[in-house]
Amino acid sequence: MTRTDPSGSAAPAAPTPASEATAFDRLPLPPAMLANLRQLGYLSMTPIQAESLPLTLGGHDLIAQAKTGSGKTAAFSLPLLTNLNPRRFAVQALVLCPTRELADQVTQEIRRLARAEDNIKTLTLCGGVPIRTQLASLAHGAHIVVGTPGRILDHLQRETLSLEALNTLVLDEADRMLDMGFAEDIAQVVAHCPKQRQTLLFSATYPDGVAALAGRFMRDPKSVTLTERH
Ligand code: ADP
Ligand code: MG
Repeated sequence: MTRTDPSGSAAPAAPTPASEATAFDRLPLPPAMLANLRQLGYLSMTPIQAESLPLTLGGHDLIAQAKTGSGKTAAFSLPLLTNLNPRRFAVQALVLCPTRELADQVTQEIRRLARAEDNIKTLTLCGGVPIRTQLASLAHGAHIVVGTPGRILDHLQRETLSLEALNTLVLDEADRMLDMGFAEDIAQVVAHCPKQRQTLLFSATYPDGVAALAGRFMRDPKSVTLTERH
């Protein structure tokens, strides 16, 4: 016998609550990092984080496209931090950003996310700041460098920055970096990076130029695209 019930008793079982499906503790992250995320009020992953972190924490290169404000910084900072050896005091991660303001924001977010490890040093290197000031900071060393392509390249050419120990390269806001004419600087910075590394490219849009950039520097990248409805 078939019953039809306009009140909706034939509705499918309730989906898994979002809070479970997107809980950070589903991820292979150290307990101290998970505790820190809870303290920061990061209770569940944003869509770009939920889609990308299983791939990036598994070591894949990634091309991720999602709009501004979707949580891309944590999406690349968590894999970057898990790749890091805090006892090795050398630059192991580089994040390239289009502007000083964005680089400062990324540095702040990385510092918050890295709080569980109290001795990780993150340094910002951008144009518009006297080189001399940066040389003093570089002399003290860092695990993570965040900066704009031109100034990073300047330090590489002066040999005041070495990327020999790098294991993670992030291109943040790749579309904006190309718009600002950084393609050649980025190419030269990448030439200073070890071939064996994880490369993560984040962008709000994915024009042909970004695809071409990805094709030059990435190894079998996975792609995650989140459209406006997210
Ligand atoms: P995007 O780089 O995509 O523009 P951001 O990484 O700057 O976005 O993140 C936007 C805001 O969301 C920031 O204030 C960040 O601290 C916050 N945020 C990121 N991920 C989470 C999360 N999982 N839970 C709560 N807030 C988050
Ligand atoms: Mg961002």
